[in-house]
Amino acid sequence: MHAAAECSERRRLRKQYHAALRAYIDATDALDPLEFDEEFDHAYNEATFARLDFERCRQAYHRHVSDHACAY
Ligand SMILES: [Zn+2]
Repeated sequence: MHAAAECSERRRLRKQYHAALRAYIDATDALDPLEFDEEFDHAYNEATFARLDFERCRQAYHRHVSDHACAY
């Protein structure tokens, strides 16, 4: 492979991965000031969904890099 530019699929997945990471960080930050009540439980569920989405994006990115073997 002699592609000068970054693999477009890899770039797309990396952006998605980063966006999911930001969302996960924001969701966990939102937990910090809360009391352990129903509001916390709701926010915790949101954070859990954000974590699962982040994991999914992370795996998709690494799977692509592994399968496609793109250097950039
Ligand atoms: Zn690629």
